[in-house]
Amino acid sequence: MSKEKAPAPEKDHASSSAAVSDSAQDQSPAKGNLNEIVSSHVERAARLIHLPEEIALILGQPKNEIIVNFPVKMDNGTYKMFKGYRVQHNNILGPYKGGIRFHQDVTLDECKGLASAMTWKSALHDIPFGGGKGGVKFDPTQHSKTEIERITRRFTHALASSVGPEYDIPAPDVGTNGQIMAWFMDTYMNIVGALDKNAMRRVVTGKSINSGGSLGREAATGQGTVHCIVEWARDHRFDLTGKTVAIQGFGNVGSFTAKILSKLGVSLVATGDYKGYIHNPEGLNSHKLAEHVKRTGSVVDYKHAKPISRDEFFALECDILVPAALELEIGEKEARAIKAKVIAEGANGPTYPEADAILNERGISVLPDILVNSGGVTVSYYEWLQNKRSERWEEEEVLGRLERAMKRTYAHVRDFAYERKLDFRTAAYAIGLERIQKAYADRGIWP
Ligand code: NAD
Repeated sequence: MSKEKAPAPEKDHASSSAAVSDSAQDQSPAKGNLNEIVSSHVERAARLIHLPEEIALILGQPKNEIIVNFPVKMDNGTYKMFKGYRVQHNNILGPYKGGIRFHQDVTLDECKGLASAMTWKSALHDIPFGGGKGGVKFDPTQHSKTEIERITRRFTHALASSVGPEYDIPAPDVGTNGQIMAWFMDTYMNIVGALDKNAMRRVVTGKSINSGGSLGREAATGQGTVHCIVEWARDHRFDLTGKTVAIQGFGNVGSFTAKILSKLGVSLVATGDYKGYIHNPEGLNSHKLAEHVKRTGSVVDYKHAKPISRDEFFALECDILVPAALELEIGEKEARAIKAKVIAEGANGPTYPEADAILNERGISVLPDILVNSGGVTVSYYEWLQNKRSERWEEEEVLGRLERAMKRTYAHVRDFAYERKLDFRTAAYAIGLERIQKAYADRGIWP
């Protein structure tokens, strides 16, 4: 299955399992407000396309903000209360669509920012979906599989009257995966009428294949990220063979990006996660590293690498940097330190506007999240269509459609940016916003 170009032999740099730098986690920028930052991108794009004031007013707030509190029985027989969110930003182009996050730092504001980013992402790619996002505030690493199943099922039950296959369609995000989507789907199916059951499979996407998921969905966000890197390289006459990548976050997006890049001869030299960062200038085998993460839950202690600090990670010599962890990780300090030539935003909202300005000044290309990480929502749309039509598409068909979609949108953003002398982020937001503006212009605002 793997066609990974074998990196130069991994040297065993690890000195001890306790060698993770103490400073690995304490230096990320103090987190700002993602919702305000996304709004500032929208405002810039709105000025550019002369968005009518009343449309800006509508788009400035999500349509619905749902907060639920629900009890769950723990394995030891005690009960705990959990807080869950679902924000539905806009649905003028189609049903609300966006991930469900399981993380201890989930907040309403974070969901608002991520939900609105989903609106612009779907619109940019001309996918007939709107924008939504949700999550449950807890640390999944502190719970057993059975507890996570019960949390997922109770959350689904609490949200059931607010989501639906033609209304709001969740998907995986940080801390969730195909198994969690299968539990979400199964719970939802059992709540609705028995005759409708099977028609309800598409209430979520990113499901495991056995539960009606699409071939190609699990790797889709990483695959889309790589398509954008390839397009950027083509435009800049930058031969990717023999080049290096550093990836922050080695979960779904980070690990698939690394594996797919390795097939193009790009070697992963550093990565990191919530526990710490690792480096091997000779290259890390992303498949073996993914197995290590599956076994241990983290990249740290991988024996073919040496631990480095978060600061060292961002200052590393490398050609490509892929943030694929959480939002707001690249601030002014990181922007000054980064040596990569291009940053491909696999994560949602990883870069502060102040950092954008510094990177721009330093001639480092930034490929924005709503362009780069849209492979996920694109193949989620394909999964939804397959469920609706009771079809199963071949993997080649899914991947072929994804490649054409990513390349088309990349070219659109690039041409729009070059013609108007804009950065790619502003161009991407402007294209999405314009599509939404046209829908409002045709339909008007009821009543
Ligand atoms: P994941 O849970 O599979 O992986 C997240 C990774 O980030 C893990 O390696 C985790 O340890 C790491 N991480 C968490 N906190 C960190 C910290 N403080 N410092 C460094 N690393 C940290 O999640 P994912 O699905 O890969 O999502 C990653 C990013 O990509 C998120 O921003 C998500 O919104 C975005 N995204 C995901 C998809 C998708 O299809 N999964 C689609 C579009 C965008």
